[in-house]
Amino acid sequence: MSSSEEVISHNPATGAELGRVLLAGDNEYESILQEALLAFQHWRLLPAPNRGDIVREIGEELRAEKEALGELVTLEAGKIIAEGQGEVQEMIDIAQFAAGLSRQLYGLSMHSERKGHRMYEQWHPLGVVGIISAFNFPVAVWSWNALIALVCGNTVVWKPSLKTPLTAIAVQQICDRVLTRHGWKGVVNLLIGNDRVVGSRMLHDPRMPLISATGSTRMGRQVGQVVAGRLGRTLLELGGNNGAIVMDDADPDLVVRAALFGAVGTAGQRCTSLRRLFVQRGIARTVIQKLTTAYAQVLVGDPSDPHTLMGPLIDADAVEHMLRALERIRVQGGEILAGGNRFNALGECFVEPTLVRSHPEMEILREEIFAPILHVIEFATLDEAIRWHNDVPQGLASSIFTSSVYSSETFLSTRGSDCGIANVNIATSGAEIGGAFGGEKETGGGRESGSDSWKAYMRRQTVTVNWSKELPLAQGITFEL
Ligand code: NAD
Repeated sequence: MSSSEEVISHNPATGAELGRVLLAGDNEYESILQEALLAFQHWRLLPAPNRGDIVREIGEELRAEKEALGELVTLEAGKIIAEGQGEVQEMIDIAQFAAGLSRQLYGLSMHSERKGHRMYEQWHPLGVVGIISAFNFPVAVWSWNALIALVCGNTVVWKPSLKTPLTAIAVQQICDRVLTRHGWKGVVNLLIGNDRVVGSRMLHDPRMPLISATGSTRMGRQVGQVVAGRLGRTLLELGGNNGAIVMDDADPDLVVRAALFGAVGTAGQRCTSLRRLFVQRGIARTVIQKLTTAYAQVLVGDPSDPHTLMGPLIDADAVEHMLRALERIRVQGGEILAGGNRFNALGECFVEPTLVRSHPEMEILREEIFAPILHVIEFATLDEAIRWHNDVPQGLASSIFTSSVYSSETFLSTRGSDCGIANVNIATSGAEIGGAFGGEKETGGGRESGSDSWKAYMRRQTVTVNWSKELPLAQGITFEL
Protein backbone atom coordinates (compact mmCIF):
# COMPACT_ATOMS: atom_id res chain seq x y z
CA MET A 1 0.00 0.00 0.00
CA SER A 2 1.21 3.49 -0.78
CA SER A 3 0.97 5.95 2.08
CA SER A 4 -1.02 9.17 1.90
CA GLU A 5 0.50 10.38 5.17
CA GLU A 6 2.83 13.31 5.08
CA VAL A 7 5.32 14.85 7.45
CA ILE A 8 5.78 18.59 7.87
CA SER A 9 9.28 19.89 8.41
CA HIS A 10 9.47 22.96 10.67
CA ASN A 11 12.17 25.49 11.34
CA PRO A 12 12.63 25.14 15.12
CA ALA A 13 13.86 28.72 15.39
CA THR A 14 10.77 30.34 13.88
CA GLY A 15 8.15 27.62 13.84
CA ALA A 16 7.73 28.26 10.09
CA GLU A 17 6.82 25.37 7.85
CA LEU A 18 9.76 24.47 5.60
CA GLY A 19 8.11 21.81 3.51
CA ARG A 20 5.92 18.73 3.40
CA VAL A 21 7.09 15.25 2.50
CA LEU A 22 4.87 12.35 1.51
CA LEU A 23 5.77 9.30 3.57
CA ALA A 24 6.79 6.03 2.00
CA GLY A 25 4.37 3.15 2.45
CA ASP A 26 4.72 -0.60 1.89
CA ASN A 27 4.84 -0.28 -1.91
CA GLU A 28 7.65 2.25 -1.89
CA TYR A 29 9.51 0.16 0.67
CA GLU A 30 9.36 -2.90 -1.53
CA SER A 31 10.35 -1.15 -4.74
CA ILE A 32 13.28 0.66 -3.09
CA LEU A 33 14.47 -2.56 -1.54
CA GLN A 34 14.27 -4.40 -4.86
CA GLU A 35 16.38 -1.68 -6.46
CA ALA A 36 18.95 -1.82 -3.65
CA LEU A 37 19.16 -5.62 -3.90
CA LEU A 38 19.58 -5.51 -7.66
CA ALA A 39 22.18 -2.75 -7.49
CA PHE A 40 24.15 -4.78 -4.94
CA GLN A 41 24.56 -7.63 -7.45
CA HIS A 42 26.60 -5.26 -9.65
CA TRP A 43 28.09 -2.74 -7.19
CA ARG A 44 29.86 -5.51 -5.26
CA LEU A 45 31.68 -6.50 -8.47
CA LEU A 46 33.09 -3.02 -9.06
CA PRO A 47 36.65 -3.01 -7.68
CA ALA A 48 36.81 -1.31 -4.28
CA PRO A 49 39.18 1.49 -5.46
CA ASN A 50 36.65 2.34 -8.21
CA ARG A 51 33.89 2.48 -5.60
CA GLY A 52 36.21 4.69 -3.57
CA ASP A 53 36.61 7.00 -6.53
CA ILE A 54 32.84 7.46 -6.77
CA VAL A 55 32.65 8.13 -3.03
CA ARG A 56 35.45 10.67 -3.46
CA GLU A 57 33.31 12.41 -6.08
CA ILE A 58 30.37 12.45 -3.67
CA GLY A 59 32.73 14.19 -1.24
CA GLU A 60 33.63 16.77 -3.91
CA GLU A 61 29.97 17.38 -4.67
CA LEU A 62 29.37 17.85 -0.94
CA ARG A 63 32.23 20.34 -0.82
CA ALA A 64 30.63 22.31 -3.63
CA GLU A 65 27.32 22.31 -1.75
CA LYS A 66 28.79 22.76 1.73
CA GLU A 67 27.38 26.19 2.37
CA ALA A 68 23.88 25.45 1.08
CA LEU A 69 23.60 22.08 2.80
CA GLY A 70 24.98 23.53 6.04
CA GLU A 71 22.36 26.27 5.87
CA LEU A 72 19.66 23.67 5.41
CA VAL A 73 20.92 21.86 8.53
CA THR A 74 20.65 25.18 10.38
CA LEU A 75 17.14 25.77 9.06
CA GLU A 76 15.79 22.33 9.78
CA ALA A 77 17.74 21.18 12.87
CA GLY A 78 18.35 24.61 14.44
CA LYS A 79 22.13 24.19 14.64
CA ILE A 80 24.16 27.40 14.59
CA ILE A 81 25.87 28.15 11.29
CA ALA A 82 29.33 26.98 12.37
CA GLU A 83 27.88 23.64 13.47
CA GLY A 84 25.74 23.22 10.36
CA GLN A 85 28.80 23.82 8.18
CA GLY A 86 30.91 21.64 10.47
CA GLU A 87 28.50 18.78 9.98
CA VAL A 88 28.92 18.94 6.20
CA GLN A 89 32.70 19.21 6.63
CA GLU A 90 32.53 15.96 8.56
CA MET A 91 30.82 14.36 5.55
CA ILE A 92 33.58 15.63 3.25
CA ASP A 93 36.23 14.30 5.65
CA ILE A 94 34.64 10.87 5.82
CA ALA A 95 34.36 10.74 2.02
CA GLN A 96 38.13 11.31 1.81
CA PHE A 97 38.75 8.74 4.50
CA ALA A 98 36.51 6.20 2.74
CA ALA A 99 38.19 6.79 -0.62
CA GLY A 100 41.60 6.02 0.93
CA LEU A 101 40.13 3.08 2.80
CA SER A 102 38.93 1.56 -0.46
CA ARG A 103 42.53 0.50 -1.10
CA GLN A 104 43.06 -0.74 2.45
CA LEU A 105 40.35 -3.30 3.15
CA TYR A 106 43.07 -5.59 4.42
CA GLY A 107 42.83 -9.16 5.60
CA LEU A 108 45.51 -11.09 7.49
CA SER A 109 47.39 -14.11 6.26
CA MET A 110 48.29 -16.95 8.60
CA HIS A 111 50.90 -19.70 8.51
CA SER A 112 49.14 -23.00 8.07
CA GLU A 113 50.12 -25.97 10.23
CA ARG A 114 49.61 -28.13 7.13
CA LYS A 115 52.39 -28.48 4.58
CA GLY A 116 51.61 -27.00 1.16
CA HIS A 117 48.63 -25.02 2.49
CA ARG A 118 47.98 -21.29 2.53
CA MET A 119 45.59 -19.55 4.92
CA TYR A 120 44.30 -16.04 4.82
CA GLU A 121 41.17 -14.04 5.47
CA GLN A 122 39.32 -11.79 3.10
CA TRP A 123 36.43 -9.41 3.49
CA HIS A 124 33.27 -9.35 1.41
CA PRO A 125 30.38 -6.89 1.48
CA LEU A 126 27.24 -7.78 3.40
CA GLY A 127 24.47 -6.68 1.02
CA VAL A 128 21.89 -3.98 1.62
CA VAL A 129 22.77 -2.03 4.76
CA GLY A 130 19.89 -0.28 6.56
CA ILE A 131 20.72 3.06 8.18
CA ILE A 132 18.43 4.66 10.76
CA SER A 133 19.52 8.11 11.91
CA ALA A 134 18.64 10.64 14.62
CA PHE A 135 17.60 14.28 14.21
CA ASN A 136 20.62 15.81 15.92
CA PHE A 137 23.19 14.85 13.30
CA PRO A 138 20.80 14.76 10.38
CA VAL A 139 23.46 14.30 7.68
CA ALA A 140 26.88 13.49 9.20
CA VAL A 141 25.84 10.24 10.85
CA TRP A 142 24.44 8.98 7.55
CA SER A 143 27.80 9.67 5.91
CA TRP A 144 29.78 7.83 8.59
CA ASN A 145 27.76 4.76 7.77
CA ALA A 146 26.91 5.09 4.12
CA LEU A 147 30.23 6.22 2.67
CA ILE A 148 32.14 3.47 4.46
CA ALA A 149 29.46 0.87 3.64
CA LEU A 150 29.63 1.89 -0.03
CA VAL A 151 33.39 1.47 -0.46
CA CYS A 152 32.99 -1.92 1.24
CA GLY A 153 30.67 -2.91 -1.63
CA ASN A 154 27.27 -2.61 0.02
CA THR A 155 24.27 -0.67 -1.14
CA VAL A 156 22.42 1.41 1.45
CA VAL A 157 18.86 2.29 2.42
CA TRP A 158 18.44 5.28 4.74
CA LYS A 159 15.56 6.01 7.05
CA PRO A 160 16.21 9.48 8.51
CA SER A 161 14.45 11.06 11.48
CA LEU A 162 11.06 12.49 10.55
CA LYS A 163 12.17 15.70 12.26
CA THR A 164 14.76 16.31 9.52
CA PRO A 165 13.50 14.91 6.20
CA LEU A 166 14.59 17.81 3.98
CA THR A 167 18.29 17.54 4.75
CA ALA A 168 18.03 13.84 3.88
CA ILE A 169 16.41 14.62 0.52
CA ALA A 170 19.17 17.13 -0.24
CA VAL A 171 21.89 14.55 0.52
CA GLN A 172 20.14 11.95 -1.60
CA GLN A 173 19.99 14.35 -4.52
CA ILE A 174 23.69 15.17 -4.20
CA CYS A 175 24.51 11.45 -4.28
CA ASP A 176 22.12 10.83 -7.19
CA ARG A 177 23.92 13.48 -9.22
CA VAL A 178 27.23 11.61 -8.91
CA LEU A 179 25.85 8.11 -9.19
CA THR A 180 23.72 8.89 -12.25
CA ARG A 181 26.77 10.38 -13.94
CA HIS A 182 28.37 6.93 -13.59
CA GLY A 183 25.23 5.04 -14.62
CA TRP A 184 24.42 3.71 -11.17
CA LYS A 185 20.90 3.40 -9.79
CA GLY A 186 19.74 1.89 -6.50
CA VAL A 187 23.14 2.11 -4.77
CA VAL A 188 22.15 4.93 -2.36
CA ASN A 189 18.49 4.96 -1.35
CA LEU A 190 16.24 7.02 0.86
CA LEU A 191 13.02 5.94 2.54
CA ILE A 192 11.25 8.65 4.49
CA GLY A 193 8.65 6.85 6.51
CA ASN A 194 7.41 6.33 10.01
CA ASP A 195 8.76 3.79 12.46
CA ARG A 196 5.61 1.68 12.27
CA VAL A 197 5.82 1.06 8.51
CA VAL A 198 9.36 1.69 7.25
CA GLY A 199 11.29 1.39 10.52
CA SER A 200 9.62 -1.80 11.62
CA ARG A 201 9.90 -3.43 8.18
CA MET A 202 13.62 -2.70 8.08
CA LEU A 203 14.14 -4.35 11.44
CA HIS A 204 12.22 -7.47 10.45
CA ASP A 205 13.60 -7.75 6.91
CA PRO A 206 16.16 -10.57 6.52
CA ARG A 207 17.23 -9.02 3.20
CA MET A 208 19.02 -6.36 5.28
CA PRO A 209 21.86 -8.20 6.99
CA LEU A 210 22.95 -5.13 8.95
CA ILE A 211 20.91 -2.39 10.58
CA SER A 212 22.98 0.55 11.77
CA ALA A 213 20.81 2.61 14.10
CA THR A 214 21.62 5.90 15.80
CA GLY A 215 19.28 7.33 18.40
CA SER A 216 17.98 6.90 21.91
CA THR A 217 18.65 3.88 24.09
CA ARG A 218 14.90 3.20 24.05
CA MET A 219 15.03 2.88 20.25
CA GLY A 220 18.25 0.81 20.38
CA ARG A 221 16.66 -1.69 22.71
CA GLN A 222 13.80 -2.27 20.24
CA VAL A 223 16.08 -2.41 17.23
CA GLY A 224 18.57 -4.71 18.97
CA GLN A 225 15.92 -7.18 20.09
CA VAL A 226 14.03 -7.40 16.80
CA VAL A 227 17.12 -7.72 14.61
CA ALA A 228 18.68 -10.25 17.00
CA GLY A 229 15.41 -12.22 16.72
CA ARG A 230 16.22 -12.87 13.06
CA LEU A 231 19.94 -13.27 13.87
CA GLY A 232 20.78 -10.17 11.88
CA ARG A 233 23.55 -7.77 12.77
CA THR A 234 23.15 -4.38 14.40
CA LEU A 235 25.47 -1.45 14.86
CA LEU A 236 24.00 0.65 17.66
CA GLU A 237 25.01 4.23 18.46
CA LEU A 238 22.78 5.27 21.34
CA GLY A 239 22.47 7.80 24.13
CA GLY A 240 25.37 9.15 26.16
CA ASN A 241 25.61 10.71 29.61
CA ASN A 242 29.04 12.15 29.35
CA GLY A 243 31.20 13.25 32.22
CA ALA A 244 34.44 15.16 32.70
CA ILE A 245 36.68 15.14 35.76
CA VAL A 246 38.50 18.35 36.68
CA MET A 247 41.49 17.90 38.96
CA ASP A 248 42.86 20.66 41.18
CA ASP A 249 45.91 20.96 38.91
CA ALA A 250 43.84 21.71 35.78
CA ASP A 251 43.90 25.02 33.95
CA PRO A 252 40.53 26.57 34.95
CA ASP A 253 40.25 28.75 31.84
CA LEU A 254 40.76 25.78 29.56
CA VAL A 255 38.19 23.83 31.58
CA VAL A 256 35.58 26.58 31.25
CA ARG A 257 36.08 26.97 27.49
CA ALA A 258 35.90 23.22 26.94
CA ALA A 259 32.93 22.74 29.27
CA LEU A 260 31.02 25.53 27.60
CA PHE A 261 31.56 24.03 24.14
CA GLY A 262 30.73 20.55 25.45
CA ALA A 263 27.58 21.46 27.36
CA VAL A 264 26.13 24.41 25.43
CA GLY A 265 27.23 23.48 21.89
CA THR A 266 24.34 22.20 19.73
CA ALA A 267 22.11 23.30 22.63
CA GLY A 268 23.17 20.19 24.55
CA GLN A 269 21.72 17.98 21.82
CA ARG A 270 24.82 15.96 20.97
CA CYS A 271 25.18 12.36 22.00
CA THR A 272 28.59 13.47 23.32
CA SER A 273 27.35 16.65 25.05
CA LEU A 274 28.92 17.22 28.43
CA ARG A 275 26.30 16.57 31.10
CA ARG A 276 28.26 15.91 34.32
CA LEU A 277 31.28 17.93 35.43
CA PHE A 278 33.10 16.50 38.46
CA VAL A 279 35.27 19.20 40.00
CA GLN A 280 37.86 18.62 42.72
CA ARG A 281 37.28 20.66 45.88
CA GLY A 282 40.36 22.87 45.64
CA ILE A 283 39.43 24.27 42.22
CA ALA A 284 35.63 24.02 42.46
CA ARG A 285 34.96 27.60 43.58
CA THR A 286 37.04 29.09 40.75
CA VAL A 287 35.57 26.83 38.07
CA ILE A 288 31.98 27.38 39.22
CA GLN A 289 32.45 31.14 39.36
CA LYS A 290 33.98 31.30 35.89
CA LEU A 291 31.35 28.96 34.47
CA THR A 292 28.49 30.97 35.95
CA THR A 293 29.93 34.14 34.42
CA ALA A 294 30.41 32.43 31.06
CA TYR A 295 26.87 31.00 31.06
CA ALA A 296 25.45 34.50 31.55
CA GLN A 297 27.26 35.63 28.39
CA VAL A 298 26.08 32.89 26.01
CA LEU A 299 24.15 34.49 23.18
CA VAL A 300 21.01 32.41 22.59
CA GLY A 301 18.99 33.16 19.49
CA ASP A 302 18.63 32.85 15.75
CA PRO A 303 20.99 30.03 14.71
CA SER A 304 21.60 31.67 11.34
CA ASP A 305 23.09 34.76 13.00
CA PRO A 306 26.86 34.16 13.10
CA HIS A 307 27.10 35.68 16.59
CA THR A 308 24.70 33.17 18.12
CA LEU A 309 26.28 30.45 20.26
CA MET A 310 23.15 28.49 21.07
CA GLY A 311 20.09 28.01 18.88
CA PRO A 312 16.76 26.39 19.70
CA LEU A 313 15.96 22.87 20.82
CA ILE A 314 14.50 20.71 18.09
CA ASP A 315 10.84 21.16 19.07
CA ALA A 316 8.43 22.18 21.83
CA ASP A 317 8.39 18.63 23.24
CA ALA A 318 12.13 18.86 23.84
CA VAL A 319 11.60 22.10 25.77
CA GLU A 320 8.89 20.50 27.90
CA HIS A 321 11.17 17.55 28.55
CA MET A 322 13.93 19.88 29.76
CA LEU A 323 11.60 21.86 32.00
CA ARG A 324 10.23 18.69 33.57
CA ALA A 325 13.79 17.49 34.17
CA LEU A 326 14.61 20.79 35.90
CA GLU A 327 11.64 20.29 38.19
CA ARG A 328 12.94 16.86 39.13
CA ILE A 329 16.42 18.29 39.65
CA ARG A 330 15.03 20.82 42.13
CA VAL A 331 13.03 18.13 43.96
CA GLN A 332 16.15 15.93 44.19
CA GLY A 333 18.16 18.75 45.75
CA GLY A 334 19.93 20.33 42.76
CA GLU A 335 20.61 24.06 42.91
CA ILE A 336 20.24 26.05 39.67
CA LEU A 337 23.29 28.31 39.36
CA ALA A 338 22.54 29.76 35.93
CA GLY A 339 19.65 29.57 33.46
CA GLY A 340 16.79 27.22 34.19
CA ASN A 341 14.09 28.89 32.11
CA ARG A 342 12.47 28.88 28.74
CA PHE A 343 13.28 31.91 26.54
CA ASN A 344 9.73 32.92 25.68
CA ALA A 345 10.74 36.11 23.90
CA LEU A 346 12.64 34.18 21.22
CA GLY A 347 10.10 31.50 20.29
CA GLU A 348 8.67 28.31 21.68
CA CYS A 349 11.82 26.17 21.25
CA PHE A 350 14.39 28.36 23.04
CA VAL A 351 15.75 27.71 26.53
CA GLU A 352 18.52 29.11 28.69
CA PRO A 353 21.70 27.05 29.01
CA THR A 354 21.55 25.77 32.55
CA LEU A 355 24.16 25.09 35.19
CA VAL A 356 23.22 23.08 38.26
CA ARG A 357 25.08 22.30 41.47
CA SER A 358 24.24 18.64 42.04
CA HIS A 359 25.17 15.89 44.45
CA PRO A 360 26.16 12.38 43.40
CA GLU A 361 23.12 10.62 44.89
CA MET A 362 20.66 12.41 42.59
CA GLU A 363 18.81 9.77 40.60
CA ILE A 364 18.43 12.01 37.54
CA LEU A 365 22.20 12.01 37.04
CA ARG A 366 21.80 8.52 35.62
CA GLU A 367 19.64 9.72 32.71
CA GLU A 368 20.50 11.40 29.45
CA ILE A 369 18.46 14.62 29.38
CA PHE A 370 18.84 15.79 25.78
CA ALA A 371 19.10 19.51 26.60
CA PRO A 372 21.70 22.06 27.74
CA ILE A 373 21.83 21.12 31.43
CA LEU A 374 25.24 20.75 33.04
CA HIS A 375 25.53 19.22 36.52
CA VAL A 376 28.53 20.32 38.57
CA ILE A 377 29.49 17.88 41.32
CA GLU A 378 32.33 18.37 43.78
CA PHE A 379 34.62 15.50 44.73
CA ALA A 380 37.57 14.85 47.01
CA THR A 381 39.74 12.16 45.37
CA LEU A 382 40.33 10.88 41.84
CA ASP A 383 39.12 7.41 42.81
CA GLU A 384 35.85 8.87 44.06
CA ALA A 385 35.42 10.90 40.87
CA ILE A 386 36.06 7.88 38.63
CA ARG A 387 33.58 5.81 40.64
CA TRP A 388 30.85 8.43 40.31
CA HIS A 389 31.73 9.07 36.70
CA ASN A 390 31.30 5.41 35.75
CA ASP A 391 28.18 4.89 37.86
CA VAL A 392 25.70 5.49 35.01
CA PRO A 393 24.15 3.09 32.51
CA GLN A 394 25.67 4.87 29.49
CA GLY A 395 29.32 4.81 28.35
CA LEU A 396 29.98 7.11 25.40
CA ALA A 397 32.44 10.00 25.93
CA SER A 398 34.54 11.11 28.88
CA SER A 399 37.32 13.57 29.71
CA ILE A 400 39.79 14.47 32.39
CA PHE A 401 41.37 17.89 32.90
CA THR A 402 44.71 17.72 34.65
CA SER A 403 48.39 18.50 34.29
CA SER A 404 49.36 15.33 36.15
CA VAL A 405 50.48 12.31 34.16
CA TYR A 406 49.47 10.12 37.10
CA SER A 407 45.88 11.39 37.01
CA SER A 408 45.46 11.27 33.24
CA GLU A 409 47.02 7.80 32.94
CA THR A 410 44.88 6.50 35.82
CA PHE A 411 41.81 7.84 34.02
CA LEU A 412 42.91 6.13 30.78
CA SER A 413 43.84 2.86 32.51
CA THR A 414 41.63 -0.17 33.03
CA ARG A 415 40.46 1.25 36.38
CA GLY A 416 39.62 4.59 34.79
CA SER A 417 36.92 5.68 32.37
CA ASP A 418 34.62 2.90 31.16
CA CYS A 419 33.60 4.80 28.01
CA GLY A 420 34.26 4.26 24.31
CA ILE A 421 35.88 7.69 24.12
CA ALA A 422 38.31 9.06 26.72
CA ASN A 423 39.89 12.49 26.30
CA VAL A 424 42.51 14.48 28.17
CA ASN A 425 42.23 18.27 28.43
CA ILE A 426 39.53 18.54 25.75
CA ALA A 427 35.74 18.37 25.88
CA THR A 428 33.72 15.17 25.58
CA SER A 429 32.22 16.35 22.28
CA GLY A 430 33.77 17.25 18.94
CA ALA A 431 35.25 13.92 17.87
CA GLU A 432 37.37 13.62 14.71
CA ILE A 433 36.36 11.13 12.03
CA GLY A 434 39.69 9.27 12.06
CA GLY A 435 38.98 7.43 15.30
CA ALA A 436 36.38 4.73 15.91
CA PHE A 437 33.33 6.44 17.36
CA GLY A 438 30.94 4.80 19.80
CA GLY A 439 30.32 3.78 23.37
CA GLU A 440 29.84 1.00 25.85
CA LYS A 441 26.99 -0.23 28.07
CA GLU A 442 23.62 1.27 27.10
CA THR A 443 25.31 3.37 24.41
CA GLY A 444 25.14 0.17 22.40
CA GLY A 445 28.73 -0.97 21.77
CA GLY A 446 28.84 0.03 18.09
CA ARG A 447 31.84 1.69 16.45
CA GLU A 448 31.54 3.87 13.36
CA SER A 449 33.63 6.20 11.26
CA GLY A 450 37.42 5.79 11.44
CA SER A 451 39.99 3.18 12.50
CA ASP A 452 38.81 -0.33 11.55
CA SER A 453 35.08 0.39 11.95
CA TRP A 454 34.68 -0.66 8.29
CA LYS A 455 34.79 -4.28 9.42
CA ALA A 456 31.23 -3.93 10.73
CA TYR A 457 30.02 -3.50 7.13
CA MET A 458 31.73 -6.62 5.78
CA ARG A 459 31.78 -10.34 6.34
CA ARG A 460 35.03 -12.09 7.08
CA GLN A 461 35.91 -15.20 5.15
CA THR A 462 38.73 -17.50 6.27
CA VAL A 463 40.30 -19.23 3.28
CA THR A 464 42.51 -22.34 3.25
CA VAL A 465 44.10 -23.33 -0.05
CA ASN A 466 45.82 -26.68 -0.46
CA TRP A 467 48.41 -26.27 -3.20
CA SER A 468 50.14 -29.58 -2.50
CA LYS A 469 49.30 -33.05 -3.82
CA GLU A 470 48.75 -34.41 -0.29
CA LEU A 471 45.83 -34.14 2.09
CA PRO A 472 47.25 -33.63 5.59
CA LEU A 473 44.57 -32.96 8.22
CA ALA A 474 44.67 -30.33 10.93
CA GLN A 475 45.54 -31.38 14.49
CA GLY A 476 47.51 -34.31 12.98
CA ILE A 477 44.37 -36.41 12.55
CA THR A 478 44.66 -39.44 10.31
CA PHE A 479 41.57 -40.64 8.50
CA GLU A 480 42.49 -43.35 6.04
CA LEU A 481 40.54 -46.23 4.55
P1 NAD B 1 15.13 8.55 18.55
O1 NAD B 1 15.54 7.29 19.21
O2 NAD B 1 13.83 9.13 18.91
O3 NAD B 1 15.09 8.32 16.95
C1 NAD B 1 16.23 7.95 16.23
C2 NAD B 1 15.82 7.26 14.95
O4 NAD B 1 15.27 5.99 15.24
C3 NAD B 1 14.74 8.01 14.16
O5 NAD B 1 15.00 7.88 12.79
C4 NAD B 1 13.49 7.27 14.56
O6 NAD B 1 12.46 7.40 13.61
C5 NAD B 1 14.01 5.84 14.63
N1 NAD B 1 13.24 4.90 15.45
C6 NAD B 1 12.77 5.09 16.70
N2 NAD B 1 12.14 3.98 17.14
C7 NAD B 1 12.24 3.07 16.12
C8 NAD B 1 11.78 1.74 15.96
N3 NAD B 1 11.11 1.10 16.90
N4 NAD B 1 12.04 1.11 14.80
C9 NAD B 1 12.75 1.73 13.82
N5 NAD B 1 13.19 3.00 13.91
C10 NAD B 1 12.94 3.65 15.06
O7 NAD B 1 16.32 9.60 18.76
P2 NAD B 1 16.38 11.16 18.41
O8 NAD B 1 15.54 11.90 19.39
O9 NAD B 1 16.17 11.37 16.96
O10 NAD B 1 17.94 11.46 18.69
C11 NAD B 1 18.47 11.73 19.94
C12 NAD B 1 19.12 10.50 20.54
O11 NAD B 1 20.08 9.96 19.64
C13 NAD B 1 19.88 10.81 21.81
O12 NAD B 1 19.66 9.78 22.74
C14 NAD B 1 21.33 10.83 21.36
O13 NAD B 1 22.27 10.58 22.37
C15 NAD B 1 21.31 9.74 20.33
N6 NAD B 1 22.44 9.85 19.41
C16 NAD B 1 23.47 8.99 19.54
C17 NAD B 1 24.58 9.10 18.71
C18 NAD B 1 25.76 8.17 18.86
O14 NAD B 1 26.57 8.12 17.94
N7 NAD B 1 25.91 7.44 19.96
C19 NAD B 1 24.62 10.09 17.72
C20 NAD B 1 23.54 10.95 17.60
C21 NAD B 1 22.44 10.81 18.46
